[in-house]
Amino acid sequence: MTPVILFVFGAVTGSFLNVVALRYNSGLSLGGRSACAHCGRKLRWFELVPVLSYLYLRGRCRGCRAKISRQYPLVELWTGLLFATLPLSYLPVFSLYVAITVYDLRHKIIPDGLAYAAAALALLFALLMGGRGLLDWLAGPVLFSFFGLIWFLSRGRAMGFGDAKLALSIGLLLGAREGFSAVVAAFWIGAAYGIGAMIFSPKRLTMKSEVPFAPFLVLGSWAAAALHLDLLHVSSFFQ
Ligand SMILES: [Zn+2]
Repeated sequence: MTPVILFVFGAVTGSFLNVVALRYNSGLSLGGRSACAHCGRKLRWFELVPVLSYLYLRGRCRGCRAKISRQYPLVELWTGLLFATLPLSYLPVFSLYVAITVYDLRHKIIPDGLAYAAAALALLFALLMGGRGLLDWLAGPVLFSFFGLIWFLSRGRAMGFGDAKLALSIGLLLGAREGFSAVVAAFWIGAAYGIGAMIFSPKRLTMKSEVPFAPFLVLGSWAAAALHLDLLHVSSFFQ
């Protein structure tokens, strides 16, 4: 039963994170009723139920029949899955990761405010959890330097500096084992996506296409944290 409750709680949080990602840096406040992006009609309560409303409305506004972005149900579903599969203590930072992912997909940039908030929360988490070795404490700075170096050497073409800030928080939150695994997994997922995109829609994507990397980092972090991955065999250093 618990995973179901966590999923529902996650889907509701995802619904809120959609709003955060949409209104962040846009001058709009986080308060106020949600409205149709097309006709501006205020939404009733039964149009605001995560995932289910989208299915019930068959993806269209009740007023103007305009298509509702698939982003909404997908983010709700995804946040639900995150909440049902991750340790509770990771959820505040991962909620910020969801907002960062959506924002990066829309604007191709990671907003500083959200990246710093994630790093600060992850640091607080690391301090509160305790039981961390030196390597765990180094994971954040090491990953930050790694992505910072790619950013510097490629003059921002291969990786944005925002990815370095995101990697810092991933290292702080997950420690050495899962943190390094998250980045390895992110490159695997990114490569698989790139190959798939070149095969299935070569016109839309070439080698030069600017693909946001934050979604892959977050997916990699999810995999590493949910499956307790240790892809670089960090544990063997302690034996
Ligand atoms: Zn409408």
